[in-house]
Amino acid sequence: MTPLKDGLELDADKRDILGSPPQPTEDVMGRKFVDCREHPSESHCSLAISADNEDELLEAVVQHAKTVHGAQDTPEFRKQIKESIKPGTPPT
Ligand SMILES: [Zn+2]
Repeated sequence: MTPLKDGLELDADKRDILGSPPQPTEDVMGRKFVDCREHPSESHCSLAISADNEDELLEAVVQHAKTVHGAQDTPEFRKQIKESIKPGTPPT
């Protein structure tokens, strides 16, 4: 008789019945960021903006660029920002 083993197996079964753990959606999507330090500017801005969603990130960067860098919100400018988006989180 191995009561201890039986108990462990029962626990494993229970976990399967109760359902799988929540899916790590954030890890699947990945974090994205734009680092202002990679874009030399007169203000020597050191800001890095990150988000899970590329549209969200683009919007935040455009707002920042307009207010801090006096940039023009043009389709071409947005394209440049999109190209500078990197996966992961900003280095510290
Ligand atoms: Zn900046």
